[in-house]
Amino acid sequence: MTIEIADLTRRFDRTEVLRGINLAIAEGELVALLGPSGSGKTTLLKIIAGLDWPDTGSLTVNGQDWLAKRAQDRRAGFVFQHYALFPHMKVRDNIAFGLTVLPRRDRPSAAAIRARVDELMRFLQISALADRFPAELSGGQRQRVALGRAMAISPAVLLLDEPFGALDALVRRDLRRWLRDVLETSKTTSIFVTHDQEEAFELADRVVIMGAGRIEQIGRPDEIYDHPATPFVARFLGLSV
Ligand code: ADP
Repeated sequence: MTIEIADLTRRFDRTEVLRGINLAIAEGELVALLGPSGSGKTTLLKIIAGLDWPDTGSLTVNGQDWLAKRAQDRRAGFVFQHYALFPHMKVRDNIAFGLTVLPRRDRPSAAAIRARVDELMRFLQISALADRFPAELSGGQRQRVALGRAMAISPAVLLLDEPFGALDALVRRDLRRWLRDVLETSKTTSIFVTHDQEEAFELADRVVIMGAGRIEQIGRPDEIYDHPATPFVARFLGLSV
C-alpha cells in the first residue's frame, strides 16, 4: 500500500472532526472522499498534506512516517480550489516552480527543468498556454495549469480539494474526463475531495463516504450503489436501504 492511515483523530476545541479514520490506498489508485459539508474531508486532506496535524493516529506513505516530516519534505502535490497560480509568472514558470525550489542535491539543471516542463505541458495538452500569464487564462485552463504545477515534482501523492468547484457545469465535465485520462495514464496515486456525487463516482477507483468525522463506507462505485452499508450512505446517495 502507498498510503496507510490508522486510527487518526482530530478535534478542534470540543468538536471531534475526525473520529478514528482507517484507510489504505494502493499505488496508482484514485480515491474520492465524498460527504456532506463539515464531514471532515478537507481536514483529512490537510493532515496528509502536512498543513494540519492529528491528535492521535498514524500516517505512512511508501513506508515512511509522514507525521514526522514537514509539509515541504513530503512530496505531496496539491490542487486546491483557492490555491492560486503565481500571478506574476508565466504558465511555464508556474509549472517549473516546484522543481526550482527543491533542495540543491535534488534539483535538476535548468535545461532538465525546461525539458520536464515542456514534456508535462505536452502531456496535459497545455503547451499553447506556455507563455501566458494566469490573468490571461480561463478558469478551466488555470486548473489544468495548477495540475501541471502539482505534478511537476512527480509527487508521491496528489491531493485535490474541490478543484473544479468554482467552474460551471460544462467546463467541469470536460475537465473531469481530462483529469481521469491524465491520472490513469500517469498512474499517480491521488485523493480527490468532493461533495459532488456524480464527480466522485465517475472519477474514482474507490469512493470513501464520510459523515460526521467517520468513514461510513469504502468501496468501488458499483459496490456502494448496489450495497449501501448504512442508512446514512443510502440517504446521502438518495438510494433506498
Ligand atoms: P468538509 O471538508 O467535509 O466540509 P472540514 O474538514 O472542512 O469538512 O470541516 C469539518 C469540521 O471541522 C467543520 O465542523 C469545521 O467547522 C471544523 N473545522 C475545520 N477546521 C477548523 C479549525 N481550524 N478550527 C475549528 N474548527 C474547524
